[in-house]
Amino acid sequence: MIARLLLLFFISHSFFAFAQNSPTTSIDSVISLNNEQVNLTRFDMSYFIDKTGKMTLSQIQNQTFTASENELTLGTNAKTTWSKITVKNNDSDTLRLFIHNPDAYHLEEVGFYETHNGQLINQSEIQLDTSGPKANMFGGSAVFSFYIAPQQQKTIYVKSVTFSHQWFALNIYNEEHSKRALVGNGNYIALLVGMMLALMIYNFFLYLSARKIENIVYALYLISGTVWVALSYGVAANFFGIFSAEVLQLNSSLLSMPSFLVIFVMLIFETKKHYPKEHIALSLILVLLVGDFIYSLFDVVGALKPASTLAAMMMTVTFGVSISLWRKGDPLAKYFLLGHSLFVIFNMLAVLYYKGITDANVINSHGVGIGILLEALMMAFILSYRIKTLEKIKAQQKELTRLVDTDPMTGLYNRRYFDRKSEELIAAMASNHQELTLIIADLDHFKAINDTYGHDIGDKVIIEFANILTTQQRKDDIACRYGGEEFVLLLHCSLHDAKAVAERIREKAANTRIKSNDAQAVKFTVSLGVHSVAHASTTIKETLSIADKALYKAKNNGRNCVEVAV
Ligand code: GH3
Ligand code: MG
Ligand code: MG
Repeated sequence: MIARLLLLFFISHSFFAFAQNSPTTSIDSVISLNNEQVNLTRFDMSYFIDKTGKMTLSQIQNQTFTASENELTLGTNAKTTWSKITVKNNDSDTLRLFIHNPDAYHLEEVGFYETHNGQLINQSEIQLDTSGPKANMFGGSAVFSFYIAPQQQKTIYVKSVTFSHQWFALNIYNEEHSKRALVGNGNYIALLVGMMLALMIYNFFLYLSARKIENIVYALYLISGTVWVALSYGVAANFFGIFSAEVLQLNSSLLSMPSFLVIFVMLIFETKKHYPKEHIALSLILVLLVGDFIYSLFDVVGALKPASTLAAMMMTVTFGVSISLWRKGDPLAKYFLLGHSLFVIFNMLAVLYYKGITDANVINSHGVGIGILLEALMMAFILSYRIKTLEKIKAQQKELTRLVDTDPMTGLYNRRYFDRKSEELIAAMASNHQELTLIIADLDHFKAINDTYGHDIGDKVIIEFANILTTQQRKDDIACRYGGEEFVLLLHCSLHDAKAVAERIREKAANTRIKSNDAQAVKFTVSLGVHSVAHASTTIKETLSIADKALYKAKNNGRNCVEVAV
């Protein structure tokens, strides 16, 4: 297990010069205890870094310790660190006290040494780099208990050996508060993990409605991120009692998470199609990440060594790409840039904390988790924004197709649509076992209507006649304005039935009255030709031409009548 504390993508990638806490006074502070309500989460202690890593307790006892608070963050140059806590019981009863290290899950070794007047009384050493149950580990917390008689003073030395970054807290409780602390441990992180789970559920519903591959990639990002947060902040340890070597393989989530982020960027921005240069940069980094991820399946420790460098490269590339896309005017880029910036900022805060440059607080000690969550939130927003945009585009395309296929004046289909669609219907005739019949209609003496009442009234007549046609067509039939005042209907029925339809149309037209500009009732009539589509290999042109002959006959027969061509 080495990887436990290859914590951040780029922690070991040093963006900052080292600024170790400078040693201050070495006066030993004594914590005086007066009652049973011992619940110490803020107190003074002191620490000493054993550069050799080999000192014995008696050697350690002779060293000069540096005053500090009970939460320590010392960076990478403090692999073996000793803390010294001196307590005095001012109460009249013997106290039983518990020292907790709630961050022990990420350490290699923890040791507690209880001394009185310089003499070792009791000790507990926990090797965390091995699998199997460990005494004195409760979830991810290491716990040591000792008794202290009235007026007695004891000094506890706590040894902490880390894999890379030295950071931990020590707390002192009585029995009741010890239990409470163990139950409440990891609540902040449980909150983070809970929010990630909520995002997963939200994303699941998004997927149900949109069925986009981006949702799947996002889900995988969330899962990887959640696994990593759970591992690194002790949720796995505190809630499930698994840590160190037992969950080592899961550290490969450190590689899968950025891989899915890169794929997400590729899909969301459609880089392959729209931004080929950026696509190449993303592809290269993806190949490296995926290659290292595959390697991690065989040797996770080895694979995690270049992980921080890869992650830093990944962030540089994704950052560069999003800036580039933003400058090119991609509407989603600014949102991604915002989420990604927050991710980087919070990770920076965490780096400052883990390197020992800033003191612990809830924000910087959880910076990576907060960063992952904020980025995940922004990704969820981008996903829904994109779904909305895609739906808008789809609706616009539909509207465009409708405009291309219809006649604006009457709303009927136009000739272009009819020619295309009628061929399809004729071709499908045999397999559908359907009859198709064509009616062609031409308004009678229409020039005269225009001449007598004006073009506007002529238009009104055309619209009115189109409405009559619409009432006569059934689903899948096509009613089309073929030319100026010429219409065609392609009906799914026999010649006999189509003739009846044509007759109804003629009659309705003849009975329709339109008001002219000077309130006169304008009448109009129509002549119609009917012909059945013979078989599937007939063309619409042939059919039209025969129907047109029937129409010509109707015109010759005095108009306002229907002629059938058999
Ligand atoms: P027929 O009975 O032989 O069909 O006589 P007709 O006068 O209707 O002759 P034809 O079908 O050749 O006339 C077409 C006329 O329809 C010519 C044109 O001015 C008129 N027209 C074509 N499109 C429109 C239109 O959109 N609005 C109006 N008001 N008139 C149109
Ligand atoms: Mg006409
Ligand atoms: Mg005509």
